[in-house]
Amino acid sequence: MFEIRHSDLAGRIGKLETPHGVVETPAFVPVVHPVKQTVSTQFLKKMGFELVITNAYITLRHYGDEARKRGIHDIIGFDGSVMTDSGGYQVLEYGSVDVEPADMAQFEKDIRSDIPIPLDKPTGYGLEYEMAKQYVETTLKNSKETLQVVGETDAIWVGPVQGAEHSDLVEHSAKELDSMGFQLMALGSPVELMEAYEFATLARMIAAAKKVIPAKPVHLFGAGHPLTIPLAVALGCDMFDSASYMLYAKDGRYMTPNATMRLDELTYLPCQCDICSTHSAQELKGLEMDERIIAIAKHNLHVLKAEVDSVKQSILDGRLWEYVMQKARAHPKLMEAARLFADLEMLEAGTPAFKEKAVYLYEPIDQHRPEAKRYRKIVSQYKSQKRRLVLCPETDLHPFYSTRSFRETLKRNPDAQICSYNPFLGIIPAEISDIFPAAHNIVTRSAYFSNDYPTFVQSLKSFVANNNFEEVVIVTSDAFIEGAAREAGISVRIVGQHEQL
Ligand SMILES: [Zn+2]
Repeated sequence: MFEIRHSDLAGRIGKLETPHGVVETPAFVPVVHPVKQTVSTQFLKKMGFELVITNAYITLRHYGDEARKRGIHDIIGFDGSVMTDSGGYQVLEYGSVDVEPADMAQFEKDIRSDIPIPLDKPTGYGLEYEMAKQYVETTLKNSKETLQVVGETDAIWVGPVQGAEHSDLVEHSAKELDSMGFQLMALGSPVELMEAYEFATLARMIAAAKKVIPAKPVHLFGAGHPLTIPLAVALGCDMFDSASYMLYAKDGRYMTPNATMRLDELTYLPCQCDICSTHSAQELKGLEMDERIIAIAKHNLHVLKAEVDSVKQSILDGRLWEYVMQKARAHPKLMEAARLFADLEMLEAGTPAFKEKAVYLYEPIDQHRPEAKRYRKIVSQYKSQKRRLVLCPETDLHPFYSTRSFRETLKRNPDAQICSYNPFLGIIPAEISDIFPAAHNIVTRSAYFSNDYPTFVQSLKSFVANNNFEEVVIVTSDAFIEGAAREAGISVRIVGQHEQL
């Protein structure tokens, strides 16, 4: 049902098979109104959206038995895959809906939804713990009942994970749904988190769920901001639905890859989609209201689609870390979320052991990328038989053992363990200086400060502790390595480049 083709960090490119076709993930899933949709589903299909989501509760209220006869694909005029929300959003907005979970489940089955969602009770954001816990339990009960009602089915029923900012509830929720047998999980209602730019809370919520369900596909409800897409994908979300393209358009908000702007404030249109290449900002503003809303909505969809495609390409290139960190500069709160990546062990499993392209290393956060952690782990197992450690600065040429500086140092001192070093990767023994990414990285050449690189200090300290060196020699004076040695409590001798060791 779900097959992973490529991965980087916890992000992956996959194929999700539904009764109405195969959906490539990560996928943005546009919300379609079952009654008053203004951007046609044919247009969405033509743009390349293979999956849309619509509301089964509104469909039930508006069409009733007619929807059972015609099926949801005919009702919304879309022959691709259709996901149906059950009314959870209405619960969030109005407190409750007048339908039982079992009836809703039967209805979603009857209208032949490909990816139906049980009637859940979203926790939203800011709900106090006890109340959130009750909502989680209600959702779990409804979900269990739903599975009993629908029995054997081709549809992919969604396990709605609730709990929001209460990580232990999120974990509990995911664990229970996983054991009930749900094959696709959806993370509850981050809309309010995103409106408050609480990206770090969102990241923690996703991480809590992924810890329990690392392999199964995960959908993120209501994530329709181009800024959050790279973050969510890197953390392991495979799909995200949103009505933002339309809601923002109604509000006169024009999406760009790094922000949303008010159309009123734009003099230029920084986009080349069909709408923007045929209208000036002035012309777009001058359109009659309904027409203008549809035009902005189409543009917004274009931006969202392009964002997902950029993220996918970054996964293929092995540059998702670089992409997320670059994106994080669009908003300080996004940077706050990206910084959490430093401590997330879950980013390692999906990161390839070898990448065709070099990793780019810029600033302290990059010492925590999975490739760097992995390399330091390898070095921490390294056993040297030598009694003297010689540390040489890195050159632009890789691997270190192929450089002149290494050969000369070796000639002068054949009995030493010769290593180079890199602030991001730690100690690099010449013998394993060709292991990825020691020979496959490009660093910004500038002054580094050892107190910004605690992983480096640790790497030096444990390398010395794990071996039996009687002396540590530093070739050419360098404030970074001298500072690191001081912090690691290691006494060193410093010699010049051509000095006799
Ligand atoms: Zn555009």
